[in-house]
Amino acid sequence: MLKLPLPLWTEGFSQDDLASCKDSINAYNIQSLSLLSLVTVFLLGACSIVPLVIEKLPYRFMAYLAAALAELVIHGCSRAARRRQCGRGVFYALFTVFFLTLMALGFYTGIVVWRDQHTVMALLFLVYSQSLFVVDFFFSAALNFATAVVFSHFTLRLKPPMIGEIDAFYIWITAILALALNRYLRHVVIKEMISSRRLAAERDRFREESIKDELTGLSNRRDYQNAAKYYISVCQHVHQTVCAIMLDVDFFKNYNDFYGHQKGDEALQAVGKVLKDLVAEEQVFAARVGGEEFIVLWTENRVTEAERVAIKICHLIANLKIPHERSEAAPFLTVSLGVYMLRGGSRETEDDLYRETDNALYAAKAGGRNCIMLRDSADRSLRMIELLPPEENIGRRSY
Ligand code: GH3
Ligand code: MG
Ligand code: MG
Repeated sequence: MLKLPLPLWTEGFSQDDLASCKDSINAYNIQSLSLLSLVTVFLLGACSIVPLVIEKLPYRFMAYLAAALAELVIHGCSRAARRRQCGRGVFYALFTVFFLTLMALGFYTGIVVWRDQHTVMALLFLVYSQSLFVVDFFFSAALNFATAVVFSHFTLRLKPPMIGEIDAFYIWITAILALALNRYLRHVVIKEMISSRRLAAERDRFREESIKDELTGLSNRRDYQNAAKYYISVCQHVHQTVCAIMLDVDFFKNYNDFYGHQKGDEALQAVGKVLKDLVAEEQVFAARVGGEEFIVLWTENRVTEAERVAIKICHLIANLKIPHERSEAAPFLTVSLGVYMLRGGSRETEDDLYRETDNALYAAKAGGRNCIMLRDSADRSLRMIELLPPEENIGRRSY
């Protein structure tokens, strides 16, 4: 593509940014061109009624008006094509038909009726070159100027000076104003589009960050609260059960004290990674809701499935084999789990869900840690789940 030095207008924009705005810039270009043509044509119209001006000017005025209207039609076609999303193909087809008709009419009027082919030809060429703004700005700007030069040459040489000057004036004014306006619009449009795009990206990033836990990349407590609300409301309607598992690392204070805070963070990240994989594998929701506390949520009516997922979590974390010399539960890092099954149709809220799950976890801690306690809201029963050897339990969720 032809590149002109545009330090003022494209400053700070990358080539990708510019390319991504191209369609919108072209839309603005064609709008501004139509407007410009109308303005210049009416200026000329005003000139043409001054009594001093000679014979053929009313015809010229009509020719200019036709040129401006032609641009308006092109503009209309392009907008219609855009709005109906039927692509540029339709627009170019319409444009070609329209342009060929205009050419034929122009030839007829200019050569046969007015015997003034230069004016008509040049006007047609002007319309054509300006409409190329739809395709590429630099290309059409160059064509626009070429037209102006050629036209000036012919009109000044062949016509009586007065008429020639007015025609040339029209072409030059249009060309120069079009160039200036398009450059300006290009800058404004690009700036507006890019800054609004950047703002939207920033907003998305903030939104994302506000619901993410920085250390593990899991959801945070705020996101958990929204998720819990959503799960409960859906399950109440369809009589499904919400399963919640709260897990807490055993003797984590001792771990931090013995291995240091940095190692503690790494251990939490490893636990977070296990839960992240679980999210993908079992289609569950997982969040870090406290220092070394996590929650897993999903819907499941079968107690056996809830047990399986809880046991799987236990095993996956134990299998990390993170050494923990100061744990009284095992020689490696373990977790205790509280599971709560909130049955559909119950009137319990997200606060009840959190409290009951936390109580089950508390019972697991009291029951010796590195174990699972499950409470079912159907019968309020609380029981310990037996931890079987890993190979018997780690499986996929069955639907
Ligand atoms: P229990 O088995 O009863 O859960 O014992 P615990 O030591 O794990 O429980 P406690 O609540 O006494 O200690 C939790 C510790 O977790 C205290 C704190 O130092 C540590 N902790 C909390 N948040 C973070 C964190 O973001 N990074 C690290 N490294 N440690 C954390
Ligand atoms: Mg703990
Ligand atoms: Mg804790």
